[in-house]
Amino acid sequence: MPHSSHSLPLFQKTLAAPVTICGIGVHGGQPATLVVSPADPHHGIVFQRTDLPGSKAIRAHWSQVSDTSLCTILGDRAGACVSTVEHILAACSALGLDNLHIALDGPEVPILDGSAQGFVKAFDKAGYVSQAARRRYIRVLKPVVTEQNDSYGLLKPAMQQSFDVTIDFAHQAIGRQNLPFHLSPAFFRRHIASARTFGFMKDVERLRAAHLAQGSGFDNTLVFGDDCVLNEEGQRYRDECVRHKALDAVGDLSLAGAPILGLYESYKGGHGVNFAMVRALFADKEAWEWTTLSELSEAEKSDARGFSDPKQVMAFSPELS
Ligand SMILES: [Zn+2]
Repeated sequence: MPHSSHSLPLFQKTLAAPVTICGIGVHGGQPATLVVSPADPHHGIVFQRTDLPGSKAIRAHWSQVSDTSLCTILGDRAGACVSTVEHILAACSALGLDNLHIALDGPEVPILDGSAQGFVKAFDKAGYVSQAARRRYIRVLKPVVTEQNDSYGLLKPAMQQSFDVTIDFAHQAIGRQNLPFHLSPAFFRRHIASARTFGFMKDVERLRAAHLAQGSGFDNTLVFGDDCVLNEEGQRYRDECVRHKALDAVGDLSLAGAPILGLYESYKGGHGVNFAMVRALFADKEAWEWTTLSELSEAEKSDARGFSDPKQVMAFSPELS
């Protein structure tokens, strides 16, 4: 079992230098360029549409979410919005990046290869800087649940950013898959970052007919036919689908605006359940509190450090997830 020596960062973090990332959007199929730049402590992660002069900056925050039906969209759909934010936000969250300014010249974050690997590589190239401000965490104080049809999300108190993601598709190449883990940069890089967006051929055709998924293809989506994977290279992991759902959950939960000390269990979830979970948490003032690690008791801190070994795992919906 790989052992992670990760402990929770005390201080906020940003990039050491700006990076530029180019690619096409998966839904519109249009090229876009992102420039991700370092930002001051307490800035948070903020998107700015450079193609819409005078448009307001858009915070990566649950209060800015306008849609979660196919991907996670921030901002005003009639005005400045940014869609498909979940993969870049997953990379930011997993790598502990708190403060970034992300300039984007179109409505959609590039899909790249459908995973978060391109963002991780770009950030690694820029390097990281620890900042002179304490990181604030959201500490879950009691269980909060959200249900949608046969899906549910459950957030419980825990001393780390922990996840337990389960999917169950009536498809012979997917079936039931489960991934429990504590989020750390090392775990994310090794087990989650390169898991791609997945979908079913029949849905891709339907979405294209509706002028969605215009940029999707075998180079950015793991596509399932009626009984097998259609991509020539096959899957990157035998349970790539649950790993991608985990990636989306990490990105979507980061819309809380700070790292969550809690265990998020998701069953047959997706962007809708993830976002409903964040809303349900903030709807109950007794369910959470702000904390810095310096405010936790010594016993809790050592618990947080010792609790770092991931319970080792191993083990489309109609939308492109
Ligand atoms: Zn995704």
